[in-house]
Amino acid sequence: MDFRFTQEQMALRHEFEDFFATEAKNAPETWVGGLESDYNTEEGYAYHRSVAQKLAQKGWLSLPWPREHGGRELGPVEQVIFNEVCFYYRVPGFNFQGLMILVPSLLEYGSEEMKAKWLPPIARAEVDWCQGWSEPNAGSDLASLTTRAVEDGDSYVINGQKIWTTGAQHATHIFLMARTDPNAPKHQGITYFLSEIDRPGITVSPLLMMDGSHVFNEVFFDNVRIPKDYVVGEVNKGWYVSMAGANFERSGSGTVSGSRRDLEDLVQFCRLTQRNGRLLSQDPIIRHKLADLAVGLDAGRQLAYYCAWMQAKNTLAIAEPSASKYFSTELMVRLANTGVEVMGLYGTLKKGSKWAALKGKFEAMCQFTLGLTIAAGSTEIQKNLIAWMGLGLPRK
Ligand SMILES: Cc1cc2nc3c(=O)[nH]c(=O)nc-3n(C[C@H](O)[C@H](O)[C@H](O)COP(=O)(O)OP(=O)(O)OC[C@H]3O[C@@H](n4cnc5c(N)ncnc54)[C@H](O)[C@@H]3O)c2cc1C
Repeated sequence: MDFRFTQEQMALRHEFEDFFATEAKNAPETWVGGLESDYNTEEGYAYHRSVAQKLAQKGWLSLPWPREHGGRELGPVEQVIFNEVCFYYRVPGFNFQGLMILVPSLLEYGSEEMKAKWLPPIARAEVDWCQGWSEPNAGSDLASLTTRAVEDGDSYVINGQKIWTTGAQHATHIFLMARTDPNAPKHQGITYFLSEIDRPGITVSPLLMMDGSHVFNEVFFDNVRIPKDYVVGEVNKGWYVSMAGANFERSGSGTVSGSRRDLEDLVQFCRLTQRNGRLLSQDPIIRHKLADLAVGLDAGRQLAYYCAWMQAKNTLAIAEPSASKYFSTELMVRLANTGVEVMGLYGTLKKGSKWAALKGKFEAMCQFTLGLTIAAGSTEIQKNLIAWMGLGLPRK
C-alpha cells in the first residue's frame, strides 16, 4: 500500500476543508453531530438538507461514480478523504444509506435503465434513502428474513415488517429485501427492491430511544405493490446484491475522523480543567489513556485507507471491512467511556444541563456508540467473518 497522497488528493482535501469549515459555522446551536443530531429535530434535519443541496451543486455526492452517470470517476481513496473531512467537521449532508450502501449495489448490479433512473436524483440530493433490511427476528441472521414478496402481474406485493430503520421518518425512499422464494435455501430466495416510501400500504412508526430521541423506526408493509422494474439484480439473488453495499458500509471510511475530533475536544478539555489543583492534562494516567486512544485512531484510519486501497484495486474481500468496522466502533466505545471517566461526575450530565461538559456530548456518545458496535453487523459477527473469510478457520 502506498501511504502517500498525490498532489491532486491533497488539493481536494483542502477544497473539502474550506467548504466544511465554513458550513460548520451554520450548524444549529444545539448541534453536536452524529445520527441523533441529523434526525431527531426538524432544525437538525433542515441543516442536513441545506448542506446536501450545496454538496450536490459541487458534484461531491457522486465523486467515485462513472462519468456517464454524472460522477467524477475519482477513486475510493478520494471518497475516504471526503468522508474524513465531512465527519471531522461534524457537518451533515451525506445520506449515508443511499450513498454508501445502495449506490455500490446499484452500480454493480443495476441495469443501465435503473442507473439512469435512480442515480441522478441521489447526486442532486433530491432524495433521502433508508435501509429496510433488519426485521424483528432477522438481524445478525439477516437471511432468515420473512417479509414476503409475491409476484402479481407487473408488480410484486410486499407484506411484512422492518425494524431499526434509521431516518425513515424523513426518507423519501427505501431499499429493502424480501423473500420471493420461501422454498429455496434461505440465502437464495431473497430479492432486493427499491421503493418510494409513500407507496400505499407503507407505514413508518417511530421507535424511540431510551432518552426519547427519534432516530429509528419500524416500517410496515401491508399489500404494498412494487413494480417489477424496481428489482435490483436478479430475482432471488438479492442477498448478493446487498453484500456489495454491506462491504462498503463496513469499510469504516470517515468514522474514525469524527472520533479524532472528539478526542481533540477531550484533550482540550483536559488542558483547561483542573482537579485537586492540577490540570487533568498533567495527570499521567489520563495522559496515558489519551495517548492510547490517539494511537488507536491512527490504526483505525490506516484500516479504513487499506480498505479503500483494496477497493481501488478491485480486490476488496470481506474480512478487511469487517476488521475496520470492528476496530473503529469498539474504539469509539472506548473513547466515549474514557471521556466520561475523565470528566468525573460532570461527564454523566446530559446536554441541556449548565454543568454538562462539552454540551454533554460524551454522555450521549456513551449511550449511542454501543449501538454502533451492533449496527451493520455486530462485533461478534465481524469476528466470525474475520475468522472464516480472513483466517480460513473452520465454521464449527
Ligand atoms: C445504530 C443502529 C442503526 C441501525 N440502522 C439500521 C437501518 O437503518 N436499517 C436496518 O435494516 N437495520 C438497522 N440496524 C439494525 C442492525 O443491522 C441489527 O441490530 C444488527 O444486525 C443486529 O441484529 P439484532 O439487533 O437483531 O441482534 P441479534 O442478531 O439478535 O443479536 C443479539 C446478540 O447475539 C449475538 N450473535 C447473534 N448471532 C451470532 C453468531 N452467529 N455468533 C456470535 N454472536 C452472535 C450478536 O452479536 C448480539 O450481541 C441498526 C442498528 C443499530 C444499533
